[in-house]
Amino acid sequence: MSNVSPDNSALALIVDDDTTVRIIMRSVLESQGIRVNDAADGVEALQAFAEETPDIVILDIMMPEKDGFDTCTDIRNDPKGKLVPIMMSTGIDDTDSINRAYQTGATDFAIKPINWPIFGHRIRYMLQAAKAMHDHLAAQQTAIRLGKVIERSSNEIYICDDHRFELQQSNGRARDNLGYSDDELTQLNLCQLLPKISASQMKGIVTDLARGEYNEQRLTTSMRRKNGTLYPVELSLQLSREENSTLLIGIAQDITERRQAHKHMRQLAYYDTLTGLPNRQLFSEQLGDMLGNAKSNLAKIAVLYIDIDNFKRINDTLGHSLGDKLLQEIARRLRKCATQNTSIARHIKLGTEIAVARLSGDEFTMVLNVLDDTSIAGDVAKYLINTLSHPMVLEGHELTVTPSIGITIAPLDSDNVESLLKHAGTAMHHAKQAGKNTYQYYSSTMNAMGRERLELEADLRKALEQNELVVYFQPQIDIQTGKLVSAETLVRWNHPKHGLVSPDNFIPLAEEMGLIIDIGNWVLTQACTDLKGWQAKGLELGEVAVNLSSLQFKHSDLLEQTCKVLKQTGLDAKYLKLELTESIIMNDAETTVHALHALKAMGIRLSIDDFGTGYSSLNYLTKFPLDELKIDKSFIVDVDSDSHNASIVTAIVAMADSLGLDVVAEGVETESQLAFVREHNVRLVQGYYFSQALPAA
Ligand code: C2E
Ligand code: CA
Ligand code: CA
Repeated sequence: MSNVSPDNSALALIVDDDTTVRIIMRSVLESQGIRVNDAADGVEALQAFAEETPDIVILDIMMPEKDGFDTCTDIRNDPKGKLVPIMMSTGIDDTDSINRAYQTGATDFAIKPINWPIFGHRIRYMLQAAKAMHDHLAAQQTAIRLGKVIERSSNEIYICDDHRFELQQSNGRARDNLGYSDDELTQLNLCQLLPKISASQMKGIVTDLARGEYNEQRLTTSMRRKNGTLYPVELSLQLSREENSTLLIGIAQDITERRQAHKHMRQLAYYDTLTGLPNRQLFSEQLGDMLGNAKSNLAKIAVLYIDIDNFKRINDTLGHSLGDKLLQEIARRLRKCATQNTSIARHIKLGTEIAVARLSGDEFTMVLNVLDDTSIAGDVAKYLINTLSHPMVLEGHELTVTPSIGITIAPLDSDNVESLLKHAGTAMHHAKQAGKNTYQYYSSTMNAMGRERLELEADLRKALEQNELVVYFQPQIDIQTGKLVSAETLVRWNHPKHGLVSPDNFIPLAEEMGLIIDIGNWVLTQACTDLKGWQAKGLELGEVAVNLSSLQFKHSDLLEQTCKVLKQTGLDAKYLKLELTESIIMNDAETTVHALHALKAMGIRLSIDDFGTGYSSLNYLTKFPLDELKIDKSFIVDVDSDSHNASIVTAIVAMADSLGLDVVAEGVETESQLAFVREHNVRLVQGYYFSQALPAA
């Protein structure tokens, strides 16, 4: 309907073959503010109708060409003409025509001669009635459409009254998800579907809504199905004010899937896929929260940092798939301790997600957050060490692993995650240094040690190029002749800040850093140069002894380097003695035999240092082309009072004798020690009794 109100220029189509009627009718209608189109017969009328749909048609019955009945029928058959009011008019006042007119679809009927003043009002009335009808139909259609949308909505919709919450209406999704029929639902009230919301709580919500401060209340809660199962929903509650009542509308969205997706994503982001344990991210976040809470209630928290000893070796030799299984088994054991061992579990708050976590590779943590006594952490560590050390059978291999555990206590050691972890790591490293398979509590001195070490490392790197290293020599005396026959070269580090640093304090570091190769070469060159210098001055010294690190020995160009130094300094190889430790010899016996023979062939003498402290078997000793054994100073120190040490010295001397080796007693400090070694036929003596190590000059 193009124009809906007469005031808004509704359009009337006048169809009449009588020109006079058309003219009068037009003027009557136009005076009412109605626009007019006219046609002289049915055919013309249908054309005009097609061009612009009128809001009303006034149709004469008796017309040539096409009469009013046919025209009316045609208009009604046109979809646009279904609802248009049609007033038929004729001069024939017979019931038949009137009946026929209504049958063909006329809305009203007027008899000629037309009463014009009334005619205008009737047309206006018909237009108004048509508009009301149209509006009503449109509203009905909208309601039907809306109803369908609501019925099919993916949200569950519930409509109930606002005081007893009895359900009046619900949509398809609601019935489907709950498993109730429409009838069953109308027997229930909304609170019966919401197990976590009581009627009084609901009343409170409705009161708040009624006060109008906000027009919607959103809650995350759960709904109960007919079969008793629960599902999580996000529920929006609103009031709808009707004419004489107020309705409570609930719109619920089932968030099961969203929850699951969220859970899945959280699993991916926060859990380690290999072991299923919380990862570093979750560990850090939750420990952070815990520390925050602990601050306010002064609680103590222990973090145990668990590292598997030599895991890399296991992984490299047995393969990663077995390594993975091993980690899974470790995770399983740790988790079991935390959950099933009551003496551990009671120190972990119920529901602590990060009781056990995997930080990376072979690094795990355990958090104890119910801790009245810090010593408990040590007891737990002991238990974990014991549990993890039980052999495990994986893919037919029986494996035994041991852990090293570092313990930190918050807020004692620190109150933030990062430094707690760092401290725990430091403590763990100390446990490893203490021989692995043990635990250590963190102490602040550990950090100082760490810092010192870092500084020392940096300084040591520069020591060689800045000429801070010096060699000292300690004489070896032939106590039968009283002559100086040899000297051991001992390196010192003249540190710009710390003064003279003992090799015990930096050789192990140099070995770890790989610097020992360069330092060793430098010492060798220095020793050879100095001896060559003394010889040139006519000073008699049989030889210099130089210490070799096991790392130098593993380094394949030891032979080459030694040759090079001898050539460079011009020293004859027979004046050089190399001191090797037992561990060098035992490490890799086959290649060592080979290298030692090569050195020997060059004319260099070979001595075994610190003899008696290692594990060398006699069997091995006979295989090596050795010249000398140095009895370690630890056996000399109380040789005159400790009968055990005395018998070891006696045995070593006897053994050296039988192998045809020279013996040097090292660390002889006193007269009585000297007397003892002399009595036992030791000829060569080195020690403070004669001299400390001295600078070349
Ligand atoms: P070492 O090879 O066993 O050297 C003997 C150590 O015992 C020296 O300590 C020496 O000063 C000390 N000593 C000698 N006589 C006595 C004594 O009567 N009483 C006591 N208490 N000690 C005595 P130093 O010079 O501190 O060297 C310590 C260690 O550092 C050496 O033990 C050696 O293992 C290593 N080292 C020293 N210089 C070098 C080097 O140039 N290269 C390598 N690889 N290691 C070296
Ligand atoms: Ca030595
Ligand atoms: Ca020694």
